Amino acid sequence: MGLAAVFPRPGSVRPLTMLRKLAVAATAFAVGLVPTLQASAQSRSVPIVRDAEIEALVSDYATPILKAAGLGSRGIRIVLVNNNSFNAFVDGRRIFINTGTLMQAETPNEVIGVIAHESGHLAGAHQQRLREQLRRAQTMAVIGMLLGMGATAAGAAAGNSSVAGAGGGLALGGTEMAMRNLLSYQRGEEMTADRSAITYLERTGQSAKGMLTTFERFANALSLTGTRADPYRISHPMPRERIANLETLARQSRYFDKKDPEALQLRHDMMRAKIAAYTGAGGGAMRLFRNNPRGIAARYGDAISTYLNGSPKAALAKIDALIQEQPKNPYFQEMRGEILLKANDPADAAKAFERAVALDPKKSSLIRMSYGRALMLTGSKGNMPAAVRELKAGIARDPEFPAGYGYLAQAYGQMGDIAEAELATADMHYYSGNIQEARIFATRAQQKLKRGSPEWIRAQDIINSKKPRS
Ligand SMILES: [Zn+2]
Repeated sequence: MGLAAVFPRPGSVRPLTMLRKLAVAATAFAVGLVPTLQASAQSRSVPIVRDAEIEALVSDYATPILKAAGLGSRGIRIVLVNNNSFNAFVDGRRIFINTGTLMQAETPNEVIGVIAHESGHLAGAHQQRLREQLRRAQTMAVIGMLLGMGATAAGAAAGNSSVAGAGGGLALGGTEMAMRNLLSYQRGEEMTADRSAITYLERTGQSAKGMLTTFERFANALSLTGTRADPYRISHPMPRERIANLETLARQSRYFDKKDPEALQLRHDMMRAKIAAYTGAGGGAMRLFRNNPRGIAARYGDAISTYLNGSPKAALAKIDALIQEQPKNPYFQEMRGEILLKANDPADAAKAFERAVALDPKKSSLIRMSYGRALMLTGSKGNMPAAVRELKAGIARDPEFPAGYGYLAQAYGQMGDIAEAELATADMHYYSGNIQEARIFATRAQQKLKRGSPEWIRAQDIINSKKPRS
């Protein structure tokens, strides 16, 4: 599904027929192919990014660390936040990570170090009060709270740099101060998390250099300008002695100079190229990799940019050249599918997505949904059962992602199954947080469904659901 972003817009009601148009419109503001709505009325302006490739990579970064921290059995999910600032946090069920973090990190080891540090906080049960709130809160509300605070702090710092330079928090108002107190770790907790992180990195045979590099960057930025108020820096105090302690510990490891495996570094570069292409961050992919413009990452970013700029034919040639070099890369096939959809060739797009599904070691729900969506878009009656099958398979793995239900509704619509189409539409609205719309469609669907059937019961659940607080 490319880099699918959630762009919730308050109060908007979107008929299903508009979904495709919206998908195109989203690329106009440079990120996201499939804007969807997500639950939680409190924080509807927070964008979540869904992308199979990035989720797989961050999961590969995190899994060994979580295991080393004794957190491996929790089935922790990766949540990507579309924000250029640096932030990462773990709440016990999810790792939230900003695209800005991934862009700023030049190596996998830098991201892995941050995840190790966050896992240290989690394993140490730090910040209990905040964690309790995170556990109760919806994903969107949590991110809204954290990002909202980050934005306020950044604004305060930019508008009053001398004050911000002196103390950062001085320009914040009462609520923000309370929020800052809530979010900020204790100094002792920071030291503990650093030590835990080093243990996890040691257990997994990795260097703590990336963590040190990242924290040093923050510590320096703080003392130099104070104008870059990344939320991460506000929640993680980085006094000089902490960095010095960390460096001493990190250098004791025999892995200190160990580099990330080359293949992992390449995946990291490709991820950064993709984010750069979608967000324009770092001046775009070509600029980011200007030292290696013919490398795979630079050309991948270039292919994506070409596609986003509306030249599917040129983009197709570029992605095909990359596929020749890495025929087993599922994300190249996935991108080929996206390009072919833009070229109005859903039948060939479906073939590309089918290949991507077969090659995907992580069995991403997003690629399955893209395959189902392409089949649906062929408009061929014969393809609809397969479209429904694939969409349902994707939804089964990812039941809270609203876009899947939107495509499913369209597939059912093309099959003439109005009750199922209405129920899927109800689900789409439900997981978008539009409970009122969800109820309307669930009621309509229920009138056509067999009383007591699983579908009828699902409709009833939606009808009974409570309206979210505004
Ligand atoms: Zn910390």
